[in-house]
Amino acid sequence: MGRVIYLDHASTTPVDPEVLEIMRPWFTEEFGNPSTVYSLGLASAQAVQQARESIAETIGAEPEEICFTSGGTEADNWALLGTADACQKKGRHLITSAIEHHAVLETVEHLEKRGYEVTRLPVDGGGLVDPDEVRRAIRPDTILVSIMHANNEIGTIEPIAEIGKVTREAGVPFHTDAVQSAGKLPLDVNELGVDMLSMSAHKFYGPKGIGLMYLRKRTRITPLLHGGGQEKGFRAGTHNVPGIVGMAKALELATNRMADDAVREAALRDRLWDGLSANIDAIHLNGDMVSRLPGNLNLRVDGIEGESMILMLDMDGICVSSGSACTTGSLEPSHVLLALGIPQEHAHGSLRITLGRSTTAEDIDLFIKVFPPIVTRLREMSPIWCANCVCKQRN
Ligand SMILES: *Cc1c(COP(=O)(O)O)cnc(C)c1O
Repeated sequence: MGRVIYLDHASTTPVDPEVLEIMRPWFTEEFGNPSTVYSLGLASAQAVQQARESIAETIGAEPEEICFTSGGTEADNWALLGTADACQKKGRHLITSAIEHHAVLETVEHLEKRGYEVTRLPVDGGGLVDPDEVRRAIRPDTILVSIMHANNEIGTIEPIAEIGKVTREAGVPFHTDAVQSAGKLPLDVNELGVDMLSMSAHKFYGPKGIGLMYLRKRTRITPLLHGGGQEKGFRAGTHNVPGIVGMAKALELATNRMADDAVREAALRDRLWDGLSANIDAIHLNGDMVSRLPGNLNLRVDGIEGESMILMLDMDGICVSSGSACTTGSLEPSHVLLALGIPQEHAHGSLRITLGRSTTAEDIDLFIKVFPPIVTRLREMSPIWCANCVCKQRN
């Protein structure tokens, strides 16, 4: 098999070689448990502490406010379930958006089954939440607002700092899922005005299975995992030392090259869109084009299914995704695209292309070359595409 052209960086990224190198000794010679008192364990504890300090500094937090988790899903679950549990005497109402990751949406559904009430705020046609809508949705019994920083499907960057002002004024805790923005956008927990923030290393060239939650001091929350009292009792379980060390390094590297990567990826992304839109009829962009992650392109091609485009591109060695990886394989259209107001029948024909460090101009040009004939072939076979009638006229 030839070289794979990987254009699915929102789904996961390869571990940076420098990150892998720094992790290696913590699997082998330096395998001590950081909760022990002899020097082998102490070395691990120091490595964890150093990582904690480095990450805290990057996001404007105190080291004690960083809690390591198994990833973004755990951090999201914990923020919602832990707050719901700790604050149930104050109220049972939570506010989130219609376009959150499943790690948030499935968790609030679980809470609804247990008697909590959830407001899912709508978004505009570009995928943006209106901070005024947050203000209007807050009630005396609201215990948490959870709005993602950047969306994993359409890359929309939400006005978190403005929403943070609203929640601060109302005295309601605020959580943001920053899994897609960490390592891609500058993050400062005080500028954003958040009390909790989720991150996951494998989205920024770190290892899978490690993430964190920023937990502002005095935030009311109960632990999700009980046991050995690690992380000041907030999150039990032996520390994933290689993962923690690797995540800190990955965040440091991503932060250092953030500005350059953003410029390069946005230019390639725009070149891709220009090339595709010039060569394909009835192709549309999903999501706001201004407030958007640099490497994200989400498009919709009338008359064909996202899944069939993915399979055809895979035969050319190109990896892309439709919606989020979690919904791939299901026939449900993406909840994010539906929330943008895209009709069900069009939401099926969407493709998410996410660029990253390995993406070259040659990759983009190859995509521009192979994709239009794929669209033509699929449309020829499509029962819902007729070149000269409804679909085309509807544009
Ligand atoms: C990937 C992702 C998650 C889940 O993170 P994991 O570490 O894979 O569990 C949560 N939220 C968003 C926005 C994501 O993109």
